[in-house]
Amino acid sequence: MKLILLGAPGSGKGTHAGRICSRFNIPHISTGDIFRMNIRGNTPLGVKAKEYISKGELVPDSLVIELVKDRLSQADCSNGYVLDGFPRTIAQAEALASFSEVNAAIEFILDHDVIIERVIGRRVCQCGETYNVKFLNGRLDCPKCGGKLYQRDDDKEETIKTRLEVYDKETAPLVDFYKEKNLLVEIDCNGKSIDEVATLLDNVLNEL
Ligand code: AMP
Repeated sequence: MKLILLGAPGSGKGTHAGRICSRFNIPHISTGDIFRMNIRGNTPLGVKAKEYISKGELVPDSLVIELVKDRLSQADCSNGYVLDGFPRTIAQAEALASFSEVNAAIEFILDHDVIIERVIGRRVCQCGETYNVKFLNGRLDCPKCGGKLYQRDDDKEETIKTRLEVYDKETAPLVDFYKEKNLLVEIDCNGKSIDEVATLLDNVLNEL
C-alpha cells in the first residue's frame, strides 16, 4: 500500500499516518520529522532546513526530493509506505511520479480556524507523541515516556498563519493534480472526532 496524505499542517495527517502504518506494517515517512531529526542532530541538512522551517516556509525542492527518493529506495519500503508531508509542491509530485507509483492521495479537509486553534495548542515530545494542551490538564511531561513536552517553533501563531498561506499557494494545487490522475480521495474532517475520521479512513482503505 503506497499512500500520500495531503492536507494543511495540523489537519491530522500525522495521527492517522501512525494508525495506517500499524495496520499495514509499513513505514511512516514524514519529511517534517526527518528535518526535525536533522535539526536536533545539527547535521548540514538540518542547518539548511532550519532556515526555512523556522519561518514557516518550504524547504527547497532540490533538498527534499533527493531525500525522499533515497528513503523510498530502502528495503522497509518494499511493501509500501505512507508519505506524510510530501509532496508539497507540483515539482515534488512530478518527481515522485517518476520514481514511484501510489495507490491513492488522501486529502484531509479541515477549516483553517480549527487548524489554527489546534496547532497553537499542540505539544510534542521527543519520543514522537503529540498532545493538545486541552487534554493535558496542566501536565508538562509526556504521559507516555515522561519526557519534557514542548511547542514546535513553527507552531507559534504567526508561523502557522504563514504555513497555511504557503499550503494554499503551493500544496493545495496537488488536489487537482491527483484528481486528474483519479487518485484523490477526500475526507471531510470538520466536526468529526479522531475515531470518526479513522473509521472513514478504514472504509476508504478497504476499497483500495
Ligand atoms: P510538517 O511537520 O510536515 O508540518 O513539516 C514542518 C516543516 O518542514 C514545513 O513547514 C516545511 O518547512 C518543512 N517541510 C516538510 N516537508 C516538506 C516538503 N515536502 N517540502 C518542503 N518543505 C517541507
